[in-house]
Amino acid sequence: MRTTIGRSDHVVVVGAGLAGLSTALHLAGRGREVTVIEREAVPGGRAGRADIAGYRLDTGPTVLTMPDLIEDVFAAVGERMRDHLTLEPVDPAYRAHFADGRQLAVHADRDRMAAEVADFAGSAEVSGYLRLREWLIRLYRAEYDHFLATNFDSPLSMLTPALGRLVALGGLRRWDRAVSAHLADPSLRRVFTFQSLYAGVAPRQAMAAYAVIAYMDTVGGVYFPRGGMRALPDALAGAARSAGVRIRYRTTVSALDRRGSRVHAVETDAGERIACDAVVLTTDLPDSYRLLAHRSRRPLRLTAAPSAVVLHVGCARTPGTAHHSLLFGQAWEHTFRDLMRDGRVMRDPSLLVTRATAGDPALAPPGRDLLYVLAPTPNLSRAPINWDRYAPAYAQEILATVRHRLPGALPDAELLRVTTPADWARRGMPAGSPFALAHTFAQTGPFRPANLIRGLDNAVLAGGSTVPGVGIPPVLISGRLAADRITGHSSALPTPAR
Ligand SMILES: Cc1cc2nc3c(=O)[nH]c(=O)nc-3n(C[C@H](O)[C@H](O)[C@H](O)COP(=O)(O)OP(=O)(O)OC[C@H]3O[C@@H](n4cnc5c(N)ncnc54)[C@H](O)[C@@H]3O)c2cc1C
Repeated sequence: MRTTIGRSDHVVVVGAGLAGLSTALHLAGRGREVTVIEREAVPGGRAGRADIAGYRLDTGPTVLTMPDLIEDVFAAVGERMRDHLTLEPVDPAYRAHFADGRQLAVHADRDRMAAEVADFAGSAEVSGYLRLREWLIRLYRAEYDHFLATNFDSPLSMLTPALGRLVALGGLRRWDRAVSAHLADPSLRRVFTFQSLYAGVAPRQAMAAYAVIAYMDTVGGVYFPRGGMRALPDALAGAARSAGVRIRYRTTVSALDRRGSRVHAVETDAGERIACDAVVLTTDLPDSYRLLAHRSRRPLRLTAAPSAVVLHVGCARTPGTAHHSLLFGQAWEHTFRDLMRDGRVMRDPSLLVTRATAGDPALAPPGRDLLYVLAPTPNLSRAPINWDRYAPAYAQEILATVRHRLPGALPDAELLRVTTPADWARRGMPAGSPFALAHTFAQTGPFRPANLIRGLDNAVLAGGSTVPGVGIPPVLISGRLAADRITGHSSALPTPAR
């Protein structure tokens, strides 16, 4: 594995999102002096927050999986997660609502899910579900050490026996085919393929290797931190500070002092110069390249993932609504075409509705619920919609869909906040997508923008735009991979025994 060259006693990490915090903890645990520079007043980055009218909103991720990876980040500095963060299992992980009125609770527990599958689709599907589950477990085990949590120096470094095992498992097939091989019921299949939206690719185009995302939620389970998602970055930042990491908030890195192949210091918008032996950038890719004065030599333009509109809604309590509801439109097959090929809003919206107050009622005023509705949309490159004009009407359309599909939803609703692709773009996210680069084949593994930069001796990237990819589990891993590039240390993470 290639590493940075020269001293690495003091490392500056740009960004206190989850990737930056993971990087900082891994480096601190290996004896490095670490300074994190963050432009916002709080940690978390895309795992953001807003306090509005007595509601405590999580503005980014809501589906938290793979607590073992979070544990690993705390363990990097000899800490235990439970001393910093309380995670509760979310059960069911999701409740899926289909346009024909049918519902399915998705349980991570094997036997409960088998019973649910029998009720929903008949006992003939149960053996298919159990085979699919076994396949997902084997896929995850085959990929974790060799593909997900590995630094690649070139595409050739993928040519190992592990690749043979992945091919034998069907990892290079299409995701939807791999799932269809086990399940006949089209609605049931959706529950194990919709996650391709998280990867920014349609199930028909996505590699089956990405079905590990379906392992993470449908087998590994979904969790929720007490205090809301913001409790995760707060806990990591707290552990980092205890481990001696300096975190500077409200400070923007405006330039790097690069001379030849080395970065000697970061410069801030306040005119300060912070000397460093190495730098880790967790900024969005164009910003990272600009700061590093790096010109990509990629022959093809990078493809951004689709974007999303997020609504935050306060309403009277509806205890019957699950923590996470998946509302599937009738025209599910068209959804991906709308978003990724035709560049239009979904004709028949499919939505993720999260009732955070199901996990922690203290996130809303007494007697109220806090709902989060995520509607995937095309990104701004695919569809240059004037979101500032269109958002009010679109928000009402989405709320009408939620009321129609989710029985009894949204009594006495107050719309607290709407975030659109235009808002993500104003925060510097390429193509107005908060999900960075799509996980197409050409943007996967050794083909994704690498975390080491050609021509630079002491700069490393971490976060959603580099390896292994987007989402909380990958960006936490990216922090460890970045640390490995600096210290050369690369012990494998524990693989959860299931
Ligand atoms: C709406 C939404 C829903 C999501 N849902 C899920 C989900 O359910 N489950 C899941 O696993 N993932 C989800 N994700 C994805 C996940 O949140 C991200 O992949 C992850 O949080 C990205 O972390 P990061 O550290 O790579 O980037 P960021 O969080 O963007 O961190 C980068 C940090 O750098 C700071 N920064 C940028 N430029 C500078 C500068 N010049 N100087 C100083 N600081 C700077 C930024 O302020 C930011 O804090 C979601 C994301 C969004 C936005």
